[in-house]
Amino acid sequence: MSLRIVIVGYGRMGKEVETLSNAYDCEIVERLDIHNNAGGEGIDPSRLPAADVAIDFSTADATLINLPRLASAGINAVIGTTGWNTKTDQMKQVVADAGIGVVVAANFSLGVNAFLAIVEQAATLFNQFDDYGAWIHETHHAAKTDAPSGTALTLQQAMRQSGYETNIDISSTRVGSVPGIHTVGFDGPFETVTLTHNARDRATFARGALEAARWIKGKQGWFTMRDVLGLER
Ligand code: NAD
Repeated sequence: MSLRIVIVGYGRMGKEVETLSNAYDCEIVERLDIHNNAGGEGIDPSRLPAADVAIDFSTADATLINLPRLASAGINAVIGTTGWNTKTDQMKQVVADAGIGVVVAANFSLGVNAFLAIVEQAATLFNQFDDYGAWIHETHHAAKTDAPSGTALTLQQAMRQSGYETNIDISSTRVGSVPGIHTVGFDGPFETVTLTHNARDRATFARGALEAARWIKGKQGWFTMRDVLGLER
Protein backbone atom coordinates (compact mmCIF):
# COMPACT_ATOMS: atom_id res chain seq x y z
CA MET A 1 0.00 0.00 0.00
CA SER A 2 1.21 3.52 -0.77
CA LEU A 3 2.43 5.65 2.11
CA ARG A 4 -0.21 8.33 2.78
CA ILE A 5 1.36 11.73 3.20
CA VAL A 6 0.10 15.11 4.36
CA ILE A 7 2.19 17.95 2.94
CA VAL A 8 2.43 20.80 5.46
CA GLY A 9 3.75 23.89 3.67
CA TYR A 10 2.96 23.80 -0.03
CA GLY A 11 5.74 26.14 -1.15
CA ARG A 12 8.93 25.39 -3.09
CA MET A 13 9.80 22.27 -1.07
CA GLY A 14 6.23 21.03 -0.58
CA LYS A 15 5.73 21.08 -4.35
CA GLU A 16 9.06 19.34 -4.91
CA VAL A 17 7.97 16.56 -2.51
CA GLU A 18 4.72 16.19 -4.43
CA THR A 19 6.58 15.95 -7.76
CA LEU A 20 8.72 13.02 -6.53
CA SER A 21 6.04 11.30 -4.44
CA ASN A 22 4.98 8.74 -7.08
CA ALA A 23 8.56 7.54 -7.48
CA TYR A 24 8.60 6.74 -3.74
CA ASP A 25 5.19 5.04 -3.79
CA CYS A 26 3.65 7.82 -1.72
CA GLU A 27 0.17 9.24 -2.06
CA ILE A 28 -0.42 12.88 -1.13
CA VAL A 29 -3.70 12.86 0.80
CA GLU A 30 -3.71 16.56 1.84
CA ARG A 31 -1.83 19.76 1.11
CA LEU A 32 -1.84 22.33 3.92
CA ASP A 33 -0.64 25.87 3.49
CA ILE A 34 -1.42 29.23 5.06
CA HIS A 35 -4.93 29.42 3.47
CA ASN A 36 -6.13 26.19 5.15
CA ASN A 37 -3.72 25.83 8.09
CA ALA A 38 -3.43 29.24 9.79
CA GLY A 39 -2.70 28.57 13.48
CA GLY A 40 -2.50 24.84 12.68
CA GLU A 41 -6.28 24.61 12.08
CA GLY A 42 -5.84 22.13 9.20
CA ILE A 43 -4.23 19.54 11.50
CA ASP A 44 -7.54 18.40 12.86
CA PRO A 45 -8.15 14.62 13.01
CA SER A 46 -11.87 15.12 12.42
CA ARG A 47 -11.14 16.82 9.07
CA LEU A 48 -7.89 15.25 7.88
CA PRO A 49 -7.95 12.17 5.63
CA ALA A 50 -6.20 9.13 7.18
CA ALA A 51 -2.42 9.69 6.90
CA ASP A 52 0.77 7.81 7.81
CA VAL A 53 3.25 10.70 7.89
CA ALA A 54 3.25 14.50 7.58
CA ILE A 55 6.11 16.27 5.80
CA ASP A 56 6.56 19.84 7.04
CA PHE A 57 8.44 22.40 4.96
CA SER A 58 6.68 25.55 6.16
CA THR A 59 8.00 28.36 8.36
CA ALA A 60 9.67 28.24 11.78
CA ASP A 61 6.69 29.89 13.53
CA ALA A 62 4.24 27.55 11.80
CA THR A 63 6.26 24.41 12.62
CA LEU A 64 6.23 25.28 16.33
CA ILE A 65 2.41 25.10 16.12
CA ASN A 66 2.16 22.27 13.57
CA LEU A 67 4.38 19.77 15.38
CA PRO A 68 2.42 19.80 18.69
CA ARG A 69 -0.81 19.45 16.68
CA LEU A 70 0.60 16.52 14.71
CA ALA A 71 1.74 14.99 18.01
CA SER A 72 -1.72 15.23 19.57
CA ALA A 73 -3.24 13.82 16.36
CA GLY A 74 -0.79 10.87 16.61
CA ILE A 75 0.70 11.52 13.17
CA ASN A 76 4.40 10.80 12.63
CA ALA A 77 6.33 13.60 10.97
CA VAL A 78 9.31 14.57 8.88
CA ILE A 79 10.35 18.14 9.70
CA GLY A 80 12.50 19.98 7.17
CA THR A 81 11.67 23.52 8.24
CA THR A 82 14.64 25.38 9.72
CA GLY A 83 15.06 28.38 12.03
CA TRP A 84 13.39 26.99 15.21
CA ASN A 85 16.45 25.26 16.74
CA THR A 86 16.26 27.28 20.00
CA LYS A 87 13.01 25.42 20.74
CA THR A 88 14.38 21.92 20.06
CA ASP A 89 14.21 20.71 23.69
CA GLN A 90 10.60 21.86 24.01
CA MET A 91 9.64 20.05 20.78
CA LYS A 92 11.48 16.88 21.86
CA GLN A 93 9.36 16.83 25.01
CA VAL A 94 6.14 17.25 23.01
CA VAL A 95 7.13 14.35 20.74
CA ALA A 96 8.15 12.12 23.67
CA ASP A 97 4.92 12.85 25.60
CA ALA A 98 2.78 11.98 22.59
CA GLY A 99 4.81 8.89 21.63
CA ILE A 100 5.00 9.76 17.92
CA GLY A 101 8.04 9.37 15.67
CA VAL A 102 9.80 12.34 14.07
CA VAL A 103 12.75 12.79 11.73
CA VAL A 104 14.20 16.30 12.00
CA ALA A 105 16.95 17.45 9.66
CA ALA A 106 18.15 20.87 8.59
CA ASN A 107 19.22 19.17 5.37
CA PHE A 108 17.76 15.99 3.90
CA SER A 109 20.27 15.51 1.10
CA LEU A 110 22.26 12.30 1.19
CA GLY A 111 25.39 14.18 0.12
CA VAL A 112 25.18 16.73 2.95
CA ASN A 113 24.86 13.97 5.52
CA ALA A 114 27.99 12.27 4.15
CA PHE A 115 29.63 15.74 4.01
CA LEU A 116 28.83 16.18 7.71
CA ALA A 117 30.71 12.97 8.55
CA ILE A 118 33.69 14.14 6.42
CA VAL A 119 33.71 17.56 8.15
CA GLU A 120 33.75 15.88 11.56
CA GLN A 121 36.88 13.95 10.55
CA ALA A 122 38.49 17.13 9.21
CA ALA A 123 37.67 19.01 12.42
CA THR A 124 39.31 16.28 14.50
CA LEU A 125 42.46 16.44 12.33
CA PHE A 126 42.75 20.24 12.19
CA ASN A 127 42.11 20.61 15.91
CA GLN A 128 45.71 19.42 16.41
CA PHE A 129 47.11 22.51 14.60
CA ASP A 130 47.05 25.62 16.81
CA ASP A 131 47.87 28.10 14.05
CA TYR A 132 44.98 27.06 11.75
CA GLY A 133 41.55 28.69 11.78
CA ALA A 134 38.20 27.48 10.45
CA TRP A 135 35.20 29.03 8.73
CA ILE A 136 31.82 28.05 7.37
CA HIS A 137 30.22 29.93 4.50
CA GLU A 138 26.77 29.27 3.07
CA THR A 139 24.94 30.69 0.04
CA HIS A 140 21.17 30.41 -0.51
CA HIS A 141 18.46 32.01 -2.67
CA ALA A 142 17.33 35.52 -1.81
CA ALA A 143 13.95 34.34 -0.39
CA LYS A 144 15.47 32.25 2.39
CA THR A 145 14.51 33.90 5.70
CA ASP A 146 16.86 32.35 8.28
CA ALA A 147 20.62 32.98 8.39
CA PRO A 148 22.95 31.27 9.06
CA SER A 149 21.27 28.24 7.50
CA GLY A 150 20.24 25.31 9.68
CA THR A 151 22.85 23.24 7.84
CA ALA A 152 25.63 25.71 8.71
CA LEU A 153 24.62 25.52 12.37
CA THR A 154 24.53 21.71 12.18
CA LEU A 155 28.04 21.72 10.66
CA GLN A 156 29.30 24.01 13.44
CA GLN A 157 27.73 21.79 16.11
CA ALA A 158 29.23 18.66 14.51
CA MET A 159 32.70 20.29 14.50
CA ARG A 160 32.35 21.24 18.17
CA GLN A 161 31.19 17.73 19.09
CA SER A 162 34.29 16.41 17.30
CA GLY A 163 36.41 18.43 19.69
CA TYR A 164 37.18 21.44 17.45
CA GLU A 165 37.93 24.24 19.93
CA THR A 166 39.12 27.23 17.86
CA ASN A 167 36.74 29.99 16.72
CA ILE A 168 34.59 29.06 13.67
CA ASP A 169 33.63 32.14 11.66
CA ILE A 170 30.19 31.68 10.01
CA SER A 171 28.90 33.89 7.19
CA SER A 172 25.97 33.85 4.78
CA THR A 173 25.12 35.15 1.33
CA ARG A 174 21.54 35.52 0.05
CA VAL A 175 21.35 35.86 -3.72
CA GLY A 176 19.28 34.79 -6.72
CA SER A 177 17.91 31.23 -6.70
CA VAL A 178 20.76 29.10 -5.26
CA PRO A 179 19.28 25.93 -3.62
CA GLY A 180 22.23 25.74 -1.17
CA ILE A 181 26.04 25.79 -1.12
CA HIS A 182 28.04 25.09 2.06
CA THR A 183 31.79 25.44 2.38
CA VAL A 184 33.88 24.50 5.39
CA GLY A 185 37.43 25.82 5.28
CA PHE A 186 40.61 25.48 7.32
CA ASP A 187 43.30 28.09 6.89
CA GLY A 188 46.91 27.80 8.02
CA PRO A 189 49.94 30.07 7.61
CA PHE A 190 50.78 28.87 4.09
CA GLU A 191 47.76 26.86 2.88
CA THR A 192 43.98 26.54 2.77
CA VAL A 193 41.79 23.45 2.68
CA THR A 194 38.16 23.84 1.54
CA LEU A 195 35.37 21.28 1.50
CA THR A 196 32.21 22.24 -0.42
CA HIS A 197 28.78 20.72 -0.85
CA ASN A 198 26.67 22.14 -3.68
CA ALA A 199 22.99 21.19 -3.87
CA ARG A 200 22.30 21.73 -7.57
CA ASP A 201 18.58 20.96 -7.31
CA ARG A 202 15.97 21.00 -4.50
CA ALA A 203 15.00 17.48 -5.60
CA THR A 204 17.87 16.21 -3.44
CA PHE A 205 16.08 17.48 -0.28
CA ALA A 206 12.69 16.14 -1.41
CA ARG A 207 14.14 12.71 -2.14
CA GLY A 208 15.67 12.53 1.36
CA ALA A 209 12.43 13.72 2.98
CA LEU A 210 10.45 11.00 1.17
CA GLU A 211 12.99 8.36 2.20
CA ALA A 212 12.71 9.62 5.79
CA ALA A 213 8.90 9.45 5.58
CA ARG A 214 9.04 5.78 4.51
CA TRP A 215 11.53 5.05 7.32
CA ILE A 216 9.63 6.79 10.17
CA LYS A 217 6.30 5.05 9.52
CA GLY A 218 5.33 3.15 12.68
CA LYS A 219 8.41 4.26 14.70
CA GLN A 220 8.51 6.25 17.94
CA GLY A 221 11.14 8.77 19.00
CA TRP A 222 13.24 11.69 17.78
CA PHE A 223 15.58 10.89 14.88
CA THR A 224 17.87 12.64 12.43
CA MET A 225 18.79 11.88 8.83
CA ARG A 226 21.87 10.05 10.10
CA ASP A 227 19.58 7.49 11.72
CA VAL A 228 17.63 7.13 8.47
CA LEU A 229 20.81 6.63 6.43
CA GLY A 230 22.45 4.42 9.08
CA LEU A 231 25.57 6.62 9.18
CA GLU A 232 27.96 5.97 12.06
CA ARG A 233 28.55 8.74 14.59
P1 NAD B 1 8.60 28.47 0.81
O1 NAD B 1 8.48 29.87 1.33
O2 NAD B 1 8.61 28.25 -0.68
O3 NAD B 1 7.39 27.57 1.41
C1 NAD B 1 6.93 27.67 2.72
C2 NAD B 1 5.42 27.52 2.66
O4 NAD B 1 4.90 27.42 3.99
C3 NAD B 1 4.71 28.72 2.01
O5 NAD B 1 3.91 28.26 0.92
C4 NAD B 1 3.87 29.29 3.12
O6 NAD B 1 2.61 29.85 2.69
C5 NAD B 1 3.63 28.04 3.97
N1 NAD B 1 3.10 28.29 5.30
C6 NAD B 1 3.17 29.41 6.07
N2 NAD B 1 2.47 29.23 7.20
C7 NAD B 1 1.95 27.97 7.15
C8 NAD B 1 1.14 27.21 8.01
N3 NAD B 1 0.65 27.70 9.17
N4 NAD B 1 0.82 25.95 7.64
C9 NAD B 1 1.26 25.41 6.48
N5 NAD B 1 2.01 26.11 5.61
C10 NAD B 1 2.35 27.37 5.94
O7 NAD B 1 9.89 27.87 1.48
P2 NAD B 1 10.71 26.55 1.08
O8 NAD B 1 11.86 26.93 0.22
O9 NAD B 1 9.75 25.49 0.63
O10 NAD B 1 11.34 26.17 2.49
C11 NAD B 1 10.50 25.88 3.61
C12 NAD B 1 11.37 25.59 4.83
O11 NAD B 1 12.16 24.42 4.58
C13 NAD B 1 12.38 26.68 5.21
O12 NAD B 1 12.48 26.73 6.62
C14 NAD B 1 13.69 26.20 4.60
O13 NAD B 1 14.83 26.70 5.27
C15 NAD B 1 13.55 24.71 4.80
N6 NAD B 1 14.32 23.87 3.89
C16 NAD B 1 14.84 22.73 4.44
C17 NAD B 1 15.49 21.82 3.65
C18 NAD B 1 15.98 20.53 4.27
O14 NAD B 1 16.61 19.69 3.56
N7 NAD B 1 15.71 20.29 5.55
C19 NAD B 1 15.67 22.06 2.28
C20 NAD B 1 15.12 23.23 1.74
C21 NAD B 1 14.42 24.11 2.57
